[in-house]
Amino acid sequence: MGKQEDFVLRALEERDVRFVRLWFTDVLGSLKSVAVAPAELEGAFEEGIGFDGSAIEGFARVHESDMLAVPDPSTFQILPWRGHDDGRATARMFCDIQMPDGSPSYADPRHVLKRTLSRAAEKGYTFYTHPEIEFYLFKDEYQKGKRPTPVDRSGYFDHTAQSFGADFRREAITMLEQMGISVEFSHHEGGPGQQEIDLRYADALSTADNIMTFRTVIREVALSQGVWASFMPKPYTEHPGSGMHTHVSLFDGDQNAFYEAGSEYQLSATGRAFIAGILTHAAEITCVTNQWVNSYKRLVSGGEAPSYICWGHNNRSAMVRVPMYKPNKGQSTRIELRTIDPACNPYLAFAVILAAGLKGIEQGYELPREAEDDVWSLSDKERKALGIQPLPKNLAEAIEIAESSELLAETLGEHVFDFFLRNKRQEWEDWRAQVTQYERDQMLPIL
Ligand code: GLN
Ligand code: MG
Ligand code: MG
Ligand code: MG
Repeated sequence: MGKQEDFVLRALEERDVRFVRLWFTDVLGSLKSVAVAPAELEGAFEEGIGFDGSAIEGFARVHESDMLAVPDPSTFQILPWRGHDDGRATARMFCDIQMPDGSPSYADPRHVLKRTLSRAAEKGYTFYTHPEIEFYLFKDEYQKGKRPTPVDRSGYFDHTAQSFGADFRREAITMLEQMGISVEFSHHEGGPGQQEIDLRYADALSTADNIMTFRTVIREVALSQGVWASFMPKPYTEHPGSGMHTHVSLFDGDQNAFYEAGSEYQLSATGRAFIAGILTHAAEITCVTNQWVNSYKRLVSGGEAPSYICWGHNNRSAMVRVPMYKPNKGQSTRIELRTIDPACNPYLAFAVILAAGLKGIEQGYELPREAEDDVWSLSDKERKALGIQPLPKNLAEAIEIAESSELLAETLGEHVFDFFLRNKRQEWEDWRAQVTQYERDQMLPIL
């Protein structure tokens, strides 16, 4: 048993932990949890805890359903919302999923990301990410069929007296920090009731784990305050959607590989090729970074969400932006990807983003000219002349492009690729058959 495992076993005693939740994530990005007694943990570290994988979305075919959850001791944390001073603390660890023979499960999204990270590591790179997570707060628990009411009417950066959002953010950030997740920035976002909390950059695996924790913490804090939190990409037609802009960089040892002093935007050839990779494969990976029917309602022009495949340095209509906040700080050179939304599976999304960027580096893709204009205000013809392609307009288009993507098949692995696309096709078919209030309102008065 390693040092970290020993640390966890000691912490269980010292902190009087009564329950340990083993967390993992299904293919669509839902958090799964099984609680075990602390006495089981030694065995869990050595052999894993068995469960029936066929019951989990995307995990296994029925005839090979036995799987093992093996806790990752480096992710041990006490859950602050479960109470802990009365000898009834609850802790959690993220797990890696294994097959009965001890090999990693082909269906485990955490493994998909780890596999891609080790491809980067072979080239000497560590992949860092820093997400800006947006979400809405609604007044009451969501009720089917009812339009939700936002908790306030404030807007971007608003500071109002007795603001519900500010108190909420303070409570949520305190809890996140108790769980070892550093928050860099937080504010009210553009929509009524819409909030943003930005996590400090960390290696992509920790960030993906942190996003899973974040979504849980936010929903727990909301419930404890009698409100409802949602990461739905576009809950209202008339208000901005919720994105998860993600800043990414590659480090080579302790050097930022995207940085080159004196070059345009301080961006190295590696950084440029990485962006070129993302743009070249943008349409293919969109069904992973934006995986729901609803995700595409956010990517309609306006609301500061991108609709076109292009990059720029200070252009908020661009899909990829090179931020220039701190011109003298080479180590913070990074690129901001603005498509991704907070309802994605963060493990899979980071894996496909990294794979696209690495492809750009391996193949030496050329970066096209940056988009200087507000690309939303150009005509189709002007965009065409500039070589700017649209992002997929809906889930069906995204799936169709993804189906023939080698990059996606290779990165997700055959099982996740097949399950994911099958599931998404079904979602689209279900949606396609829906008659909406919009159609009734358009047609019934006149026809
Ligand atoms: N809400 C916008 C989006 O969906 C982003 C707004 C912003 O952060 N400036 O991407
Ligand atoms: Mg922001
Ligand atoms: Mg924002
Ligand atoms: Mg941003």
